[in-house]
Amino acid sequence: MSAPAKTEVETMKVHCDGGKGATGHPRVYLNLGNDNKVDCPYCGHQFVLKSGAKVSDAH
Ligand SMILES: [Zn+2]
Repeated sequence: MSAPAKTEVETMKVHCDGGKGATGHPRVYLNLGNDNKVDCPYCGHQFVLKSGAKVSDAH
């Protein structure tokens, strides 16, 4: 598959390690931006906030 992978998440903080195989990379932690999405700089995997997700802003 050549289309960029995309994952819906329910938190503003995600991590990516590229999964198993050729796209694997050291685990990195990413924060979703103001537009509620972020692309992994290593493998290009896109994380988007699931619509309706209740984001805890505690801390
Ligand atoms: Zn990645």
